[in-house]
Amino acid sequence: MNKGTKHGLLIVISGPSGVGKDTVIKRLLELDPTLRYSVSYTTRPPRPGEVEGVAYRFVDRDEFERLIHDGALLEYATYDGHLYGTPIAPLDEARAPGYDIVLKIDVQGAEQVRKRAPDALRIFLAPPNMDELLRRRTERHSESPLDQTARQRIAKDEMALAPHFDHVVVNDDLERAVQEVLAIIRLARERHT
Ligand code: 5GP
Repeated sequence: MNKGTKHGLLIVISGPSGVGKDTVIKRLLELDPTLRYSVSYTTRPPRPGEVEGVAYRFVDRDEFERLIHDGALLEYATYDGHLYGTPIAPLDEARAPGYDIVLKIDVQGAEQVRKRAPDALRIFLAPPNMDELLRRRTERHSESPLDQTARQRIAKDEMALAPHFDHVVVNDDLERAVQEVLAIIRLARERHT
């Protein structure tokens, strides 16, 4: 958090589905309570245990298109047939008093953020290897076998974009990866103030 007059950082955490973005971000928020999380809109149906307004704001396609039309989204992307987008208003509300806010978005969204908010800190979370990514995703059991195949194909394309990010962090060990991300955030704060 910036205690001076500067607004907070926009921190993008991206990477292929199944790499562990949710777990890394959950841990970051535990370790640094001054960080805020940006809750996205999505047209994908909730998975068991996902709470409205906490995991996502679940909306239908008409509502999502209205948000696009109203200019309410910083970025949005289609992922595996569903729309996902970041609302602008909560970002401004968190950043104005100096809180840093974390976005969990796909690589297409991260590319849009780079263009619309060039000062954003963009971190790519990578798996140790593709076999490990598939294994982690199979463990989740949350998608059909068809979705798994589609997502693995998408993941390969996403991995190719890693060099476009400010930092690449390999999620080989959760605590190690989280500490690396925290160090990157601390350094960015020092440069920002
Ligand atoms: P899942 O359906 O597994 O929760 O998310 C699928 C993908 O959409 C993940 O890569 C996730 O990071 C991404 N995603 C979640 N929210 C957003 C968002 O607001 N914008 C974009 N561009 N991608 C998002």
